[in-house]
Amino acid sequence: MIDLKKLQKDIMDNRKEKGFNSDITSDFCRAYEELSEAFSKYNKNQPGVAEEFADVVIFLLGMCDTLGYDLEKELVAKVEKNKKRKYIKEKTPEGKDIFIRIKTNEDP
Ligand SMILES: [Mg+2]
Repeated sequence: MIDLKKLQKDIMDNRKEKGFNSDITSDFCRAYEELSEAFSKYNKNQPGVAEEFADVVIFLLGMCDTLGYDLEKELVAKVEKNKKRKYIKEKTPEGKDIFIRIKTNEDP
C-alpha cells in the first residue's frame, strides 16, 4: 500500500527544491492538461498513458496539499459511498442499457 501523505510531501518538497511557484488555478489547468495528454496518447495508441495518469495524480496530490485535503481519506470514503449506491437499469430509445442512480437522503 502506498502512503499518499508521504507522496504528497515528496511532491511538495520537489516543487520547493526545483523552485516551482505554481498557484492553485494553474494546478487545476495542468491536471486537466495531463489528463488530456493521457487521452491523446491512448487515442493514438502511443506509449506513456500510465505516466500521464501519474502526472494527473501528482497535480491532484499537490492541490490537496495546498487546500489541506487528505486524498487518501477522501478516496476511501468515496469508494465506500459508491459501493452503497443503488442503480436501476433502463433502456434508451435506441435500446442501449443505461444506469440511473437512485438518490437517497444520505446521498442526494
Ligand atoms: Mg505529462
